[in-house]
Parts: sequence; C-alpha cells; structure tokens
Amino acid sequence: MTFFLIFLSAIVLAWLIYFFVIRKKNLDTEPTVKRCSVCGAESKYGYSENTEEEIKKMKSMCIKCLVSQLKNDYCTFSARAVVIQPAPGPPCYVFHSNKEWGKSYKESKIDDDSRAYLLRMDILCRDCGQKANFLWIESKGLTVHNFGNVLRKGFSETLLPSNPKPVSLCANCCVEHIAEELKEKEIAYLEVSGPKGPEDGFVMPMAY
Ligand SMILES: [Zn+2]
Ligand SMILES: [Zn+2]
Repeated sequence: MTFFLIFLSAIVLAWLIYFFVIRKKNLDTEPTVKRCSVCGAESKYGYSENTEEEIKKMKSMCIKCLVSQLKNDYCTFSARAVVIQPAPGPPCYVFHSNKEWGKSYKESKIDDDSRAYLLRMDILCRDCGQKANFLWIESKGLTVHNFGNVLRKGFSETLLPSNPKPVSLCANCCVEHIAEELKEKEIAYLEVSGPKGPEDGFVMPMAY
C-alpha cells in the first residue's frame, strides 16, 4: 500500500513538473513573436493608413509587406515631401503635411525648412533620372533624445551641417533607400505611415 502511494505521488509530481515546464516555455516564446497581418511572417512594424492612428487600427507588417505598402503610398502621392533617413531610437516613422504641422506647432521650424528646400529641389531623381518628388536627407546624429530639437529648429540648422547635401529621388528609389536602412540597421518601428493627401510635407523618425 505504502509503495503504491509513493509510486502514485511520484507520477503526479512528474506530471506537474512537466506541465509547468511546458507552460513556461510557451509563455516565454508566444508573446514576443508578432505576426504580419498580410502574410503571417514575423512582424516588426505597425503600419497606419493615417499618421497618429489608434493602436487598434494599425496593421502589423513584416518588412516585405511594409515595403510593398510604402511603394504604393509613395508612388500614388502626387505632392512633394522631405524624407529624413530612418534612424534607430524614435518609435515612429511618419508623414506630416507642412500645412497641418504649421497650424498645430507654430514655433516649430521644420515645416518652414521643408517648404524652402522642396521649392529648390532638383526635378529629376539622382538615382534613375525619372521625375523626383522626394528630397532625401541623411540622419547621422539624430537620436531618440534630440529628434524634438530637429522638429523645433528645423533640419537645416540641426542635421544638414553634419550630413551630405540633400538629394532628389523618385518614389521608387526613395522607398528603396528606406528599405535598405531598415534592413541594414535592423530598425523596428511601432508606427510607420506613408505620405498621403494633396499637401507637401515631411517624413521623419519621431515620437509624439
Ligand atoms: Zn508580411
Ligand atoms: Zn529614381
């Protein structure tokens, strides 16, 4: 009888240990992997149709689906935009129109800079010679701590002194440059939005 009880409790104990180990393993791996809402691959990005959209309206996307969505957004955008190279740190990489930004943040100079530089940009893409409507600006020195400074003072005073001259790009080449940066520096963003609407604007790494 005693032998039987010991045997039984050993089985119960073994089962409990097994159960908790498996459960813990599942808890450790499950929540960290987000899935792309388009293809089911691992997702590192939230895509929103319109900037500053509610979290629940955002779609999770893998790099491949994000790039093809951005190609669509950039190619169908008919106005012009300054595009600041993606940088690791700030959680968002989003578009704002100069008009809407200027109304909301009167002291900020980034919309004035954007207007001034778009006015004098080259009309042909540096990479392929097609019609250019994006002005690419590199972002060396931009971090999660100083992106607010770039928004306040504009990029001509903050980024341009330590970066190459801005270059004009067509929609396809611009998205190629963005994709290259995301892959090379393994940058993940909580929110990415493409340029939308009839107004000129700017795209940059930021938080709000
Ligand atoms: Zn996907
Ligand atoms: Zn091009």
